[in-house]
Amino acid sequence: MNEPLAPGAVIGILGGGQLGRMLSVAASRLGYRAHVYEPGAAPAGDVAHSLTNAPYEDEAALRAFAASVDVVTYEFENVPTSALDLIESLRPIRPNRRALAVSQDRMTEKEFLNGIGLATAPWRNVETEADLPGAIAEIGRPSILKTRRLGYDGKGQVRIGEGPAEWTGAPSVLEGFVDFSAEISVIVARGADGQVAAFDPGLNVHQGGILRRTTVPSDQPGAILTDAVLLAARIVNALDYVGVMGVELFVTRQGLIVNEIAPRVHNSGHWTQAGCAVDQFEQHIRAVAGLPLGDGQRYADVRMENLIGDDIDRLPELLRAPRTQVHLYGKAEARPGRKMGHVNIVL
Ligand code: AMP
Repeated sequence: MNEPLAPGAVIGILGGGQLGRMLSVAASRLGYRAHVYEPGAAPAGDVAHSLTNAPYEDEAALRAFAASVDVVTYEFENVPTSALDLIESLRPIRPNRRALAVSQDRMTEKEFLNGIGLATAPWRNVETEADLPGAIAEIGRPSILKTRRLGYDGKGQVRIGEGPAEWTGAPSVLEGFVDFSAEISVIVARGADGQVAAFDPGLNVHQGGILRRTTVPSDQPGAILTDAVLLAARIVNALDYVGVMGVELFVTRQGLIVNEIAPRVHNSGHWTQAGCAVDQFEQHIRAVAGLPLGDGQRYADVRMENLIGDDIDRLPELLRAPRTQVHLYGKAEARPGRKMGHVNIVL
């Protein structure tokens, strides 16, 4: 796939959550059509051109999906390997399989990052419960045990304090606790031609492992922000990446430590919808479609706040708030911890 996608082309999106929904809107704004593949509930299905609602094990559905699209991207990095193998035999997948393989497993991710000279929290592989005491002896306490696969929003994580250590129940990594002064993230994009661009790094606040808010500009020194952007560029270049990636970083006295990378658009990049001419969703679609990257320079100060669970009850007040952009994901039920929407407040 060397030529840019022509108007009317179809972009396949694996995963139909809010990220897929906002990617679908961006695709349609650029004259493309989105075909979403999602086994469960699909907020993206409301806005996409078409929706396949089938399990990732359904070969016939995967084949029909691949046949109907020009390129495949994803909003979710844990798509089963067998489904990806089948799709890749039929259509290009962007970002590439290596980016997915690296980020699907916290151990391969850390090996990759350390391998290109980037710092992570000190870590040990904890294949089984029997490996845990040895790992704790080496890494120390406090530390955090995280399942290698399928963890998100703080799920599959156990804090190891002074007491007896709980087991996660699956192969995990033990990470030393990082004494950070701030959490920032870089939303970086790389085009099919190798051009790299990054949005301004945002300052993130998490609660209970879930992102609460992102603020730009962050309050961090310029030298740290420059380092963050250069480091993110190194990651996407090393992976020969095409698309948008979220790189989550801890700011420490010893410099920047990479917490995790997400090979997709990222919650901490939602502020770009109100702060830039081209937001992260359009940037991702541009990259995947082989178009030039757009202008992601920040022209406003923005605070993004997630609406989690019953935060959604604040909606009447938020709808009346000045300089406030409301984004709702169309989810019917507001369960605790569930991301229902977000607001971008122009400061
Ligand atoms: P994660 O799911 O790995 O992104 O972790 C969610 C949040 O937990 C992070 O954004 C941090 O606030 C916190 N956290 C994760 N890992 C560590 C660590 N090694 N040291 C200190 N805090 C951490």
